Amino acid sequence: MRTEPRRTGHCQLAVASALLPGLVFVACHPSLETSPHCQRRGLVARSVTVDTGFEGAAVEVMRIAGNLVQLCLLPDGGGRHPKPKTETGPSSGGRHPGQWFYFRASELTKGELYQFQLDVSGARAWRSYKGYEVCTSYTGHHWCRCLGTLYDSGARILLWNVTAEASSCFFAYFEPYGLGQLESLLREAADAGAERRTMGRTTDGRSIDALCFPPGLLQTGREPAGEPTVVWITCRQHAAETQASFFAEGVVQSVLSEPLPLSLAIVLVPNMNPDGSARGHTRENAQGVDLNREWRPKADYSQNGRSPEVSAVQAAMLDTGVDVHLDVHGDEAADSAYSYPGLPRFRAPDHVAQLFDELEEELHSRSGGFYMPRPGSGSARTAAFWTGTQFGALSLTLEMPYKDSEPTKACSKSCRRLGSIAVDAIRSLGPRLGRFRRSRTRP
Ligand SMILES: [Zn+2]
Repeated sequence: MRTEPRRTGHCQLAVASALLPGLVFVACHPSLETSPHCQRRGLVARSVTVDTGFEGAAVEVMRIAGNLVQLCLLPDGGGRHPKPKTETGPSSGGRHPGQWFYFRASELTKGELYQFQLDVSGARAWRSYKGYEVCTSYTGHHWCRCLGTLYDSGARILLWNVTAEASSCFFAYFEPYGLGQLESLLREAADAGAERRTMGRTTDGRSIDALCFPPGLLQTGREPAGEPTVVWITCRQHAAETQASFFAEGVVQSVLSEPLPLSLAIVLVPNMNPDGSARGHTRENAQGVDLNREWRPKADYSQNGRSPEVSAVQAAMLDTGVDVHLDVHGDEAADSAYSYPGLPRFRAPDHVAQLFDELEEELHSRSGGFYMPRPGSGSARTAAFWTGTQFGALSLTLEMPYKDSEPTKACSKSCRRLGSIAVDAIRSLGPRLGRFRRSRTRP
């Protein structure tokens, strides 16, 4: 297995399909249960170890036998998960795992073939693994895809084979984006002139930070010069959707490379759920709450502290007003990026619906097919619904795929690029958004 791209830009993982006659996943080929390396040398096999003792890691080991590693997903907050009763959905009761997994396999022998089997049967979105390829890295920094990842939809087992080129290797559902990377992004943007603002604290005491372009927008009592169109971009309410953090990097790159016009201001929240990110959750915060179901109008969750992340961002939004809101996510089943409006079309004013269409067209034409328009609408408890109703804003939920459609299989590259494209699209719509701004309803 190689982590550095070859001429094709692909990570060339050994599929070794000859060792997998009939793709019988659960009953493993016997050669994998006893290391061929040790058979040849008459050695006692070293046992593969699976490490999850680091930030963002999550998986449960079911069995390790020779070069076969059998795993299953964990629900947010830990604990075992129930099996689904039917083909069409999970059983009632119990906590169901999300899709996120992230671990390091160690004690590998270079040149040996290993097989990893991940039981995804308890997951809500188990259908989404079709066409998906596992992300992998030897260094934890440079990630690529395990070409040849297979999904047995009957047994609901995700399977991949690797021929080790080092003694340890990371595997993840998507390229991880750690809190150290977040801190670097915030610091670099602040050093380049953005305002870094802490809006509140999470249950675990982490800061909920925003970047303001230009500075001053979140300073209480200060009206920004010229009443610019205020664009909010919130990322990663769902902890495992690291695509959104790479999107945030693209936003920062775009704004720093070309200053915004005076008529435009952006408030960027690169990670709304740092607790869930650190704990290796798929969706929830430290208290087991799905943040993007906490935005109901009239509810005051600051009183019970279920979601301090949402309360902090809501308060800051009420200070600045919101003209445009992009809430950025990842979709397990999607093959391309897409978005849906915060308000259903029949509820949105005509000019908002028209601007949504224009923004979609800008994203589609600029992204080279990574973004594809599609119909749909979201829940009434989501962030985009709240900003749509509270401010009359052009609000949307933007989703990015886990299945990278880029030929390079670079995992995060497309997401970062879409962040830059989104800023470019907003710039191009700027004059029209300005007219829209005057129609907003301040609370
Ligand atoms: Zn999401």
